[in-house]
Amino acid sequence: MIDIESNPIFNGTGGEGAVYASRSRPGQLFKKYRPGKMTPEVEEKLKYMIDHPIKVGDENSKFAWPTEVGYENGQPVGFYMPRLPCDEKIYFAYDYTDDMSEVRNYKNRVIVARNLCTMIHWANINNFVIGDFNDKNIGLDKVSGYVSMFDCDSFHLLGGKHRCGACMPGYAAPELLRAMRADGSTNYLGANLPTFTAETDLFALAIHVFRLLMNGAHPYNGIDVTMDSSSAIAGVGDQPVHDGLYCFALGKKPKNRTIPPLLILPDIFSEYFDRAFIHFEAGRPTWRQWLNALDNYRMHLVMCGKNPMHWHHKGLSCCPWCEADERESKKNRGLFKPKFKVRRIDQESFKRELYLDPVDLNLAGSYASR
Ligand SMILES: [Zn+2]
Repeated sequence: MIDIESNPIFNGTGGEGAVYASRSRPGQLFKKYRPGKMTPEVEEKLKYMIDHPIKVGDENSKFAWPTEVGYENGQPVGFYMPRLPCDEKIYFAYDYTDDMSEVRNYKNRVIVARNLCTMIHWANINNFVIGDFNDKNIGLDKVSGYVSMFDCDSFHLLGGKHRCGACMPGYAAPELLRAMRADGSTNYLGANLPTFTAETDLFALAIHVFRLLMNGAHPYNGIDVTMDSSSAIAGVGDQPVHDGLYCFALGKKPKNRTIPPLLILPDIFSEYFDRAFIHFEAGRPTWRQWLNALDNYRMHLVMCGKNPMHWHHKGLSCCPWCEADERESKKNRGLFKPKFKVRRIDQESFKRELYLDPVDLNLAGSYASR
């Protein structure tokens, strides 16, 4: 019999269920599925995951991995998992707002991005891909900048024996959407394999990196179709991804005025985003390539003279974030007023950032290293 609090701590788990604190097991949470969602396939997948606990080579990368199936009246209704040390979801780091939490400091966003890269590695060497790699499934520790993965029951076993059955629109890769459209498939569980792969995780990773580096904007969130006329794609969903409407594709430009020009980033990012979003047939940038590019970028950042939350490449003559704020402020007739409240930015807490040991990684497996 499960023993859980009466009110869930998280809602919005994709309609599958809700998460509760366990009364009798400190540090444990319980995800209770909605009626009809605990199918025999789900139970079998959970048991497989429980029998194969995820092995992670650094203590700061956390996964809410299932630890035990819970039953009511003899019927499986959900699973226990560890409560993770995080207080926010990853989008807290890049929401476009005048809040000055340290994790929103641009330099720290770069650290969050590099910490996220490693999660793919740990999933892959355990023979899983993340699958539904969306911003609500990624926890964030605001103090350390470490990230963690929720909703691990949606992970996809490589080869497809245990599948990921959902993916938030806007994070599913175009080749998957196009293959499903061609097959007439309407859901991921019934689609022809392969569905989710290491490459589809790398597509979602590129979206997260883009959002962290580019003021929170989704790379498919509205474009001006030509340089002269304005025709936005409403919202972010699968359709713009399916149609290849990356906002910096040739002949396109973003409609969102808080996105700076791509050239504010080192050239390698433009090349990597192209390879992730447009020319992905030969393989997307790996998590390790992203990690190296991010670490290199971080070494060349300088602080803006006006706003200590702003950091930019030392080769730029103006701060792209001040310019973005100005564009947004004009658009909103001055309603958006960043608080230039200068205070000491506590970089000390971020010095505990994750550094990977390359020897460990090489020994851990060659799958994700390619
Ligand atoms: Zn600035």
